[in-house]
Amino acid sequence: MFKVYDDSNFVINYQDNLEKLVTNFVSYYKNNINELLKKFYLDSINKMEIRLFSDKSLLGDIPYKLGDFAGFFNDKGVNCYININVKKSEDDIIKAIMHEIVHHIYRFYIENDTTNRIIWFDEGLAMNFSLQNDKYNDDDNFKEFLVNKIFSIKSIPCINDLNHGGSFVNDNYNGYDLSYLVVRYLIETNSQRDFYFIMKDKDLIKSIGNNVLESAMKYYKNKYFNTLNIK
Ligand SMILES: [Zn+2]
Repeated sequence: MFKVYDDSNFVINYQDNLEKLVTNFVSYYKNNINELLKKFYLDSINKMEIRLFSDKSLLGDIPYKLGDFAGFFNDKGVNCYININVKKSEDDIIKAIMHEIVHHIYRFYIENDTTNRIIWFDEGLAMNFSLQNDKYNDDDNFKEFLVNKIFSIKSIPCINDLNHGGSFVNDNYNGYDLSYLVVRYLIETNSQRDFYFIMKDKDLIKSIGNNVLESAMKYYKNKYFNTLNIK
C-alpha cells in the first residue's frame, strides 16, 4: 500500500513499510537543503515528486541488475528502490536519496548542456554534495581511503574515459571513489564561486578531466603524506 506525505518541499509517495524512513528523511532534508541550495547558488527549487519503493516488482523494467538500493532521477524529482531486508544504515539510505536529489538539481537547474553527461563530475558532485562520504572529513579515515582505494590503483585511468556500465567499478578501481576524490579536490582548491563556474561549463570540465586525477593524487600525497612522489 502507498502512503503520501505532502508539504511545501515535496510530495512523497512511499510504500507503508518505509514510514519511519520517510519521517527521518524529511527532517534530514529540512536540516540540509538550504546548505545544499547555497552550493548551487539557488534560492529555492520547485516542489519535487519523490517515489520510494520497497517492492521491486513495482518498478517495471530496469535495464540493469538491481542492487539493494537503486535511485533514478527525472525532471520531476527522484524515484528510489530500497531493499529493507538488508542491513544498510538509515543514514546511508537517506544520503543515497539526497545523492539522487543532487543529480536532479544539477541536471535541471545548473547544467547548460545536458546532452553529454560527464559521469565523473556528475557522480563526484552527487557524492560530495549529498554528504555520503562525510566520514572522510576525518583525516585518519580519509588517509586510509587514499592509501587503500586510490594510491593502490595499478594503472591510473583518464577520468574522462569513465563510463557507467561494467567498467565503472572494476578490479582496478571504483569509479565512485575516483569521482568523489577529484570533485572533492576541485571543491577544496577553488573558491565556491569558481567551482560554480566549473559546474556550469562542460568544456571546462572536460579539459579539467584530462589530468585532474593525477593532480588530485599529487595534491593529497603532498598534503597528508608530505611527499610528491607517486608510486
Ligand atoms: Zn549517482
